[in-house]
Amino acid sequence: MGPDTTETDYLVIGGGPAGSAAASVLAQAGQDVLVLEKEHFPRFHIGESLLTYAMPVLDRLGVLEEVSAAGFVVKAGAEFCRTDAEFSRVDFTEQGGGRVAQTFQVERSAFDEILLGAARRRGASVLEGAHVRRVLTEDGRVAGVTYSRGGTSHEVRARFVIDASGRSGVITSGHLRSRSRPARGSAVAVYRHFGGVDERHNPGVEGDIQVGTHDDGWVWAIPIRADVISVGVVTTPETLRAADSRQQLFDTHLARIPRVVERLRGAEPLTEVQVEGDFTYYSDDITGPGYAVAGDAGAFTNPIFSAGVYLALVTGVRAAEAAMAEHPTAMAEYADFYKTGYDTYAKLVDIFYDADRRIGRVFRGAGAAATPEFASRLFGGDFWSEDNPMTRYAREQPAEHTFTAYSTSLGCPVYPELAEPVS
Ligand SMILES: Cc1cc2nc3c(=O)[nH]c(=O)nc-3n(C[C@H](O)[C@H](O)[C@H](O)COP(=O)(O)OP(=O)(O)OC[C@H]3O[C@@H](n4cnc5c(N)ncnc54)[C@H](O)[C@@H]3O)c2cc1C
Repeated sequence: MGPDTTETDYLVIGGGPAGSAAASVLAQAGQDVLVLEKEHFPRFHIGESLLTYAMPVLDRLGVLEEVSAAGFVVKAGAEFCRTDAEFSRVDFTEQGGGRVAQTFQVERSAFDEILLGAARRRGASVLEGAHVRRVLTEDGRVAGVTYSRGGTSHEVRARFVIDASGRSGVITSGHLRSRSRPARGSAVAVYRHFGGVDERHNPGVEGDIQVGTHDDGWVWAIPIRADVISVGVVTTPETLRAADSRQQLFDTHLARIPRVVERLRGAEPLTEVQVEGDFTYYSDDITGPGYAVAGDAGAFTNPIFSAGVYLALVTGVRAAEAAMAEHPTAMAEYADFYKTGYDTYAKLVDIFYDADRRIGRVFRGAGAAATPEFASRLFGGDFWSEDNPMTRYAREQPAEHTFTAYSTSLGCPVYPELAEPVS
């Protein structure tokens, strides 16, 4: 080992929700864990609307109190609206007994800092400004990484690596080059924040996310502070290329959704329009010798139902548990767990698109399964359970564009004690 080489038992790449969750679980179990995060926190991140099933996970990570006290906007439902006055609402208070009925819309810079801080307090070592450059292998096994920090290069050797590097995907994209694109094509988002928002203009329920669909995509409106709202338009890369400018595309698509326009009355832009692309991909290599992948690093799809942070948190926790289990099947089980969650979510998105992006048609297609209780659970994050017929309906759709064959992993990781017998 050279002078700039260190060793750790567990190395986590990335300090977003997936990486912080994994590091927190490992550190709490008394393990030696190092997180390498390329940015300095707090840093901006898109992805501001949480799901209700994330709440017990935040509790498990020891941050629920801090997150609840941070002044984030309370979210109790999701409104789905269109180019006319038509709209419907998923109400999380209808999930049924024992489930947390509310969650938050968060400013990710503050939220992610809370999570990473908690991992640190539990004993994880965290290096910010540490950019992982290369994956090191030994006898075909991932054995560490090189990273740059403050202009110098370093090497760290690890017994096990968890890649939680988000869309950059250090292992799946950079090292293995094993990412695929879904057949349905990619998506881009153009977004900005507005200030001076007055929720009294909101024609719906205060704090709700609005998802407004139209022929060329959809629009989100997510209040992230009492007077600040995040607004984004999601469309195809081709539609963006054909527009005169990002700004023109943003303005045109936003203007198509009257209920969002009404909510923005009197509000002024706080930021320039920004673009995010390249966020639909998946990789089959969720685990391999010496490593596991958690969160966006392994797969991501359309953010229309706001599951990204929740999936990142849950897979971060599970990846850490599997890494510590040290029995031969733990990794295979984790990969199946990961794929079941992301695949169920992706299928829910596909169903919505196939239903002409009308939530009412999704419910009609699901028939008797689509009770308010089962539907709000599914939209709250109930992706792994066996007893929710609405989840089963989504899961049983033909696989169009995600992972190759895997064994479905059943059992809700959030509310295992509430599982009902399935006949
Ligand atoms: C347009 C859009 C809208 C979205 N809306 C929502 C939403 O409303 N709700 C929701 O839940 N999700 C949403 N998402 C998804 C959400 O942003 C992600 O799913 C979530 O951030 C994933 O967490 P993560 O920890 O896996 O990755 P990230 O949060 O991206 O964290 C990865 C971390 O790794 C670090 N990193 C990357 N490369 C390296 C490297 N080489 N070395 C060291 N560190 C590195 C990054 O700096 C980052 O901090 C949206 C996504 C998009 C694109």
